[in-house]
Amino acid sequence: MSSGVVNGGVSYWYAADGFPQVRRPLDGDVSADVVIVGGGYTGLWTAYYLKKAAPFLRIVVLEQKFCGYGASGRNGGWLYNGIAGRDRYAKLHGREAAVRLQRAMNDTVDEVIRVAEAEGVDADLHKGGVLEVARTPAQLARLKAFHEAELAFGEKDRELYDAVETARRIRVADAVGSTWTPHGARVHPVKLVKGLAAAVEALGVVIHESTPVTEIRPKHAVTPYGTVRAPYVLRCTEGFTASLKGQKRTWLPMNSSMVVTEPLTDEQWAAIGWDGRETLGDMAHAYMYAQRTADGRIALGGRGVPYRFGSRTDNDGRTQAETVEALREILTGFFPALAGLRIEHAWSGVLGVPRDWCATVTLDRSTGLGWAGGYVGSGVATANLAGRTLRDLVQQDSGQAGRTELTELPWVGHKVRRWEPEPLRWLGVHGMYATYRTADRRETLTHSAGSSRLARWADRVAGRH
Ligand SMILES: Cc1cc2nc3c(=O)[nH]c(=O)nc-3n(C[C@H](O)[C@H](O)[C@H](O)COP(=O)(O)OP(=O)(O)OC[C@H]3O[C@@H](n4cnc5c(N)ncnc54)[C@H](O)[C@@H]3O)c2cc1C
Repeated sequence: MSSGVVNGGVSYWYAADGFPQVRRPLDGDVSADVVIVGGGYTGLWTAYYLKKAAPFLRIVVLEQKFCGYGASGRNGGWLYNGIAGRDRYAKLHGREAAVRLQRAMNDTVDEVIRVAEAEGVDADLHKGGVLEVARTPAQLARLKAFHEAELAFGEKDRELYDAVETARRIRVADAVGSTWTPHGARVHPVKLVKGLAAAVEALGVVIHESTPVTEIRPKHAVTPYGTVRAPYVLRCTEGFTASLKGQKRTWLPMNSSMVVTEPLTDEQWAAIGWDGRETLGDMAHAYMYAQRTADGRIALGGRGVPYRFGSRTDNDGRTQAETVEALREILTGFFPALAGLRIEHAWSGVLGVPRDWCATVTLDRSTGLGWAGGYVGSGVATANLAGRTLRDLVQQDSGQAGRTELTELPWVGHKVRRWEPEPLRWLGVHGMYATYRTADRRETLTHSAGSSRLARWADRVAGRH
């Protein structure tokens, strides 16, 4: 039963931290050097680094609602080193290039923490690493393969734990093993996005909120209240991209949903451990992700209804009652001692999925149009790397700088085909997630050590491998 649960209202993070005063909308035509569409992490980090590098630049951010309205104000707060598409980039550009990308991601976790400190942004950051657990033999086989792969991409400081060692960190029921990396931190998503917006504004970037961009074309960002003209127009709209003119099939808007519990008592924390505040995930095909919040709760997420027909996106974050129940089941499956713990708030958000599941950052030098995203649910840190990379690409194009390490990373300028038209998109995504759920159930019931053939098939059909 999900009665009594606050549902939607953007996210628990906003409910807890308070909604911001909305900044004034655009009021007439203006010109700028750079216009950024979207006030999430990607847009704000890009504005931050560009303005820091070149204080004379006139930069305008246009946000349809308020900064952090999208996934940046709703996520699970895993600031970690995962980047969507790394393995594919290794195939396309060679292992050495993918290792450079991975190293850049490892550094990005520290870079976010560094800037938050430097700018006085208190975002409940705690660098406890990421713990991913296996709860079935098939998950354990995947976990070991994943662990080995990460080592091969240069993560020498990653550790593999057996059941006893896992329980020393977090006592997850039925956990048979886990892998832990130090390259991850827990963060309060909204405190980060609010602090970042304030820092950007303090540098002299102009942010207009309640200003939806209806069309992006070279040198123009068009809104109902006026047009911003600028040599560079950067699209930072991730899961909302499909709603822009001409972008319907660019990135598929995928939903992810979360719940947060009431605060746990000291006895409850003592029963489950989790003193290290690691972010916690699993190796199921329809995976979960969780954090121990600074205010003593568990925030836990997973897939809800993954995709809405016709790439429709958001209401204000409501999620389905079945999803709340599914997440509650995961919570009590992980921590039977917490059965009866109240779920206080549930919400959902959208993330952007490219056809080949590879994150990318691009500046088209012939048009001045740029974009970054397609992070497939790993965007909290990646958006920072994207922001620094867009800075370098703009500076390179305008002759203020040359090539940099970042502009040479293999995700820069990556091209991918568009998604299929409906109803194929809807059928494909729903089929894939139904298959993942079946595969997870089968792996739990049969206790077989092999990864389900069904799930491998779904991966291939989805273009993930
Ligand atoms: C429930 C959930 C949990 C997640 N958990 C994690 C996690 O734990 N770790 C992790 O790494 N990643 C996670 N992600 C993904 C991560 O949050 C995103 O990848 C990241 O926040 C993307 O940032 P962004 O700025 O690119 O996009 P968004 O934060 O979505 O920002 C885009 C902004 O653009 C605005 N916008 C859209 N269209 C227009 C328009 N036409 N005109 C003007 N403005 C517009 C939107 O209002 C929005 O504010 C999660 C995502 C969700 C939904």
